[in-house]
Amino acid sequence: MSTMNTVGRPTTPNRVENKPATLTGGRGLLQDEHLIFESDGWGKTGVDLPEPTTDGSDLGDLVRRNPIGLPGLSEPETMRHYVRLSQKNHAIDLAIYPLGSCTMKHNPRLNEKMARLPGFSDIHPLQPTSTVQGALELMDTLAHWLKTLTGMPAVALSPKAGAHGELCGLMAIRAAHEASGEHETRRKVLVPTSAHGTNPATAAFVGYTVVEVAQTDDGRVDVADLASKLGPDVAAIMVTNPNTCGLFERDILEISRLTHEAGAYFYCDGANFNAIVGRVRPGDLGVDAMHINLHKTFSTPHGGGGPGSGPVVLSAALAPFAPAPWVVHDADGYRLIEREEDEAAQAFGRMCAFQGQMGMYTRALSYMMSHGSDGLRQVAEDAVLNANYIKARLSDVMSAAFPDGPCMHEALFDDEWLKGTDVTTLDFAKAMIDEGFHPMTMYFPLVVHGAMLIEPTETESKQELDRFIHAMRALAGAAKAGDVDRFKGAPFHAPLKRLDETRAARSPVLRWTAPEGSNIAAE
Ligand SMILES: *Cc1c(COP(=O)(O)O)cnc(C)c1O
Repeated sequence: MSTMNTVGRPTTPNRVENKPATLTGGRGLLQDEHLIFESDGWGKTGVDLPEPTTDGSDLGDLVRRNPIGLPGLSEPETMRHYVRLSQKNHAIDLAIYPLGSCTMKHNPRLNEKMARLPGFSDIHPLQPTSTVQGALELMDTLAHWLKTLTGMPAVALSPKAGAHGELCGLMAIRAAHEASGEHETRRKVLVPTSAHGTNPATAAFVGYTVVEVAQTDDGRVDVADLASKLGPDVAAIMVTNPNTCGLFERDILEISRLTHEAGAYFYCDGANFNAIVGRVRPGDLGVDAMHINLHKTFSTPHGGGGPGSGPVVLSAALAPFAPAPWVVHDADGYRLIEREEDEAAQAFGRMCAFQGQMGMYTRALSYMMSHGSDGLRQVAEDAVLNANYIKARLSDVMSAAFPDGPCMHEALFDDEWLKGTDVTTLDFAKAMIDEGFHPMTMYFPLVVHGAMLIEPTETESKQELDRFIHAMRALAGAAKAGDVDRFKGAPFHAPLKRLDETRAARSPVLRWTAPEGSNIAAE
């Protein structure tokens, strides 16, 4: 493939090393861009208004005395600034986005069209319910699909992300233990070592002590270790299935049986539902609460495309404690149950103001209805097939973390194969950027050394997977052939090089300050 023909050569001719590639900082037609405050907009204004003819202002003492601290840019300058910034971001609409555990699937445009229908987008959460019957019906229908797909009797739609859903699930569990008088004694939550960081963080936030559960050599929960830690002091377990190693928990029925026998609840992290949607109903596995990331399994945009949404399905035992509001349908049409004096007497409270992310509900339901139940099943099958194709095509040049048997929807490699090359997982990921690929998830799950977690999703074609595999194989060849420079200095072709990510995370600079001596005031 011609796009790949430089990959794998011991040297590349067009290396830039650490110097700027061009005089302007632009690369090709990709423009360099500074902060808007650093633009040349001071002392001018983007609008043309006649000079005021009156003295003073009706505002009296409230009149602003200092400059507002924003540069005055014209419309084209403003437009270009934001378009250039947007082009610095990799996006699912540009290329494969193989971030494991994130399910970065294509966001169908049909969803966008549906979400923009005035009856869904131009409504207010405080409108009388008689005027938003269609929107409430949509929420009720989405709830029906989520309950049917998971085999669970209840769902709380309002949580606004997966992590928020975890919080919702554990608060329902806490409310259930409070109702049965066991809250004071059940203070622990068991979490496997491979869990996503939000699981222990959520448990700690709700006030529980987190106890780690070991995992077996084949990447699953160590059931004997779990059994030894279960007891009358345990409130819940939090298990991800399929787990973060991309593997189905084979002993899941035993895990839920032991958990319930100990009087604890089974919280399932459902972030990986894409691997099993339409094939496995978590309710059949004994799950008591599970969040569903609509921005993962149900194709709503991640991050910049809109807010997240993480509905939580609940078992019969936890359903009475579900947070308000929820929608009911009776002879008078659809209405919201919001208050204790209504039917929400045992609700633990609410997760957010109003009813949650209407735009995401609309997109997710649009996705579900356009696939149908058989199509959703096909989603899971194709996602798993794509991941196994990658695993099979890369296992001879990279080391699969769990080589035995197929994986679910993501292929997990460790850095064993990089031993002796002086190239690390991070170096390898940076070299992928030079080849035009967003890297996979790195160093997660923590239980796998130098982890590389690749999730292609079902929306990538075989042609795109082959392109990705070709680049990965060639880079692996370069690492093994000793072309260390290609990796250590990468990315060579990105506008910014290696950032101090730790410092950026620990001491982020979020506020621009005017340079010393300038008369620009930012407020
Ligand atoms: C994405 C993810 C979460 C958190 O979900 P958000 O929607 O990002 O809050 C939790 N657990 C796992 C395994 C995940 O992949």
